[in-house]
Amino acid sequence: MSPVNNNRIAHPVDNQVEFTQGVVKLKHFEAPVTSIHGVGSAMAGKLEKLGISTVGDLLYHLPRKYLDRSTVTPVSCMAENQEVTVVGKVCKVESRGTKTRKQILTVTIFDGTGYISGVWFNQDYHKEKMENGTEVSFSGKARFQYGNLQIVNPDYDVLGSVSMDQKNESIHTGRIIPVYASTAGLTSAGLRRVVTRGLDTTEGLVDPVPEAVRKKYRLMDLEEALREVHFPTDKKRLGRARYRVNFEEIFFMQVGLALKKKYRSLNVKGKRHRMPGKLVLDFIENLPFQLTESQRRAWAEISFDMVGIAQMNRLLQGEVGSGKTVVALMALLLSIENGFQGAIMSPTEVLAEQHFRKIKELLGDLPVSLKLVTSGTNSGADESISEGKVDLVIGTHALIQEKVRFADLGLAVIDEQQRFGLNQREDLVAKGEEPDVLHMSATPIPRTLAMTAYGDLDITTITDVPKGRKGVVTVVADEGQRQGAYAMVRKELQAGRQVFVICPMIEESGKLELRTVEEEARKLAGVFAGHKIGLLHGRMESGEKTGTMRSFERGEIEILISTVVVEVGIDVPNATVMIIENADRFGLAQLHQLRGRVGRGRERAVCVLFAEPETPEARARMEAIGRYNDGFSLAEADLQIRGEGALFGIRQSGYSDVRVSKLIHSSDLIKKARKAGFSLIDGEFEISQAEKRLVLWEANRRYGDTLDWLFKS
Ligand code: ADP
Ligand code: MG
Repeated sequence: MSPVNNNRIAHPVDNQVEFTQGVVKLKHFEAPVTSIHGVGSAMAGKLEKLGISTVGDLLYHLPRKYLDRSTVTPVSCMAENQEVTVVGKVCKVESRGTKTRKQILTVTIFDGTGYISGVWFNQDYHKEKMENGTEVSFSGKARFQYGNLQIVNPDYDVLGSVSMDQKNESIHTGRIIPVYASTAGLTSAGLRRVVTRGLDTTEGLVDPVPEAVRKKYRLMDLEEALREVHFPTDKKRLGRARYRVNFEEIFFMQVGLALKKKYRSLNVKGKRHRMPGKLVLDFIENLPFQLTESQRRAWAEISFDMVGIAQMNRLLQGEVGSGKTVVALMALLLSIENGFQGAIMSPTEVLAEQHFRKIKELLGDLPVSLKLVTSGTNSGADESISEGKVDLVIGTHALIQEKVRFADLGLAVIDEQQRFGLNQREDLVAKGEEPDVLHMSATPIPRTLAMTAYGDLDITTITDVPKGRKGVVTVVADEGQRQGAYAMVRKELQAGRQVFVICPMIEESGKLELRTVEEEARKLAGVFAGHKIGLLHGRMESGEKTGTMRSFERGEIEILISTVVVEVGIDVPNATVMIIENADRFGLAQLHQLRGRVGRGRERAVCVLFAEPETPEARARMEAIGRYNDGFSLAEADLQIRGEGALFGIRQSGYSDVRVSKLIHSSDLIKKARKAGFSLIDGEFEISQAEKRLVLWEANRRYGDTLDWLFKS
């Protein structure tokens, strides 16, 4: 019986008791490292420090980088001030103090052609790793000092002890040397030795990626790939091997996501909604505005899902103010007019209250009863919800408390869904009987990340903003343009509009922060004499902060000088200018959030970024923020500029495997691996039963926990 091609998907493992030979071999990846011949508990302890406890961990502990012998410079050929990488054996380690109490560490190496030293000041601890005879690599700028070549503060790697490595000569004669993240007592060479033994245990390994998939995507088979990533024969094969290993990582994840999605569409019914009727139509009719093109499309997709027989699991993404709440409300009304209840859960009390107010206003006279449930209101146990007298419940995670019971939840909306854990989201859904689910997010993320983090959801993106909003013009400026910018500000002030001035937070020191803001205030008090200036910074009490924000909202303050605290929900449509000082100190996501605070009214707004970027990266950031107005393009740009660093701060939804996040900028690979995984589950590849079993087993092994298989039944 096929685990895939029938109505209910069964657990691939429990149902297939007799493992195939392939599974048996793959299970070996789960064995402790001590099962490898020659690896004892002392070595296991060292490996543990690197996060390696199983054979699989070890074989997938890929080199951090590779040194290509052909790009290693022999000492005899070095020129002054050249950036070089040199590989040699440590022959002298010397540490001495100076009159100025500096400690100088000099490590001299010999590479067969000459001597060169690495030099460190007050960092004696480096010597612990560099015993005589150990092979190391130094990278950096070579200089002559008193006739000797040296590199100050070299980038270095301890490759290992040559004498101990005779068993595996190829390690040292090969052109490409793998360098591992290593730890005290375990050098790169030491690791290679253990890896070699580990590889010896994989004989007879059956590739869990089916042959048809490997063929189509020209993937190296697993056994060879593992050998090549650790002991590359040449650059080309190394490249293919790494591609293979990366591909399979995403592939198995996508197999899992595809399965989860398929399982859901076959087994979870969701709520059956009728076509939109009077309540929804009245609501749309009475809206004080026209829906945007994106909102219409989003509504079409969502209502289609809800009317359909399968459970809706859709992510609605769009920036703050793009009109998501209005669309979600339409969906909730559809559920309500079908006799169900709706729920919308927000990550903070402020947001929940905001929703409550907004929704109440939008609903006007429509016959819908609302209830706000936060830990503050403490109204969760209210019988009106369990008896179905309340149609729409708006709240925080207080909604998932045990005492909150719904009569019949038809649609669960999860706002800012990335800020909830998988369990919290599931707990809300569990308040009903397989309700439809709408996830919302205002955090722009790159497409490739969406394919992994939200890979089992259908995605709708709102790309345009409501008409009538003029948006923001962003200008990146330097000091020469300051007078011009101030003249523009003066004009806006005279026209009765308001201005934000944002200063960076300087380190964690609240005192400095305060001084920056106060200095700026003094300066601007001179420049804009006669206008009212307010201050906002991290040292203020929250009551004080709120007071200042309210005066700004009421127009009593005309210029608000602030550190980044304004990021959180301040809504002043009359503010038309934002000036950001030292803008190059901010990240792209933050700058984008900040400028989103202006341009919310009917006037065109301007955001002036004063920046003197010094690094290429900072320049690229400034260029990007000036060029892209929407957060999604900006997120892509951020990824290009910073690589995986751009993903910090994005709390992923439980799939935050390190190896996967490292691949997130390989968009081509991700697209292909996703296609491969989904086509496989759709039955588009010709594969044998044994292969099918193996691929499911492996997907479950790798992602079973994080994807929380719905194989329970
Ligand atoms: P989001 O939930 O994406 O942050 P909202 O749905 O709260 O956005 O919309 C932001 C503001 O814009 C609200 O005041 C809302 O009433 C208004 N709005 C929503 N859609 C439109 C539209 N199509 N035209 C004009 N204003 C709109
Ligand atoms: Mg449905």
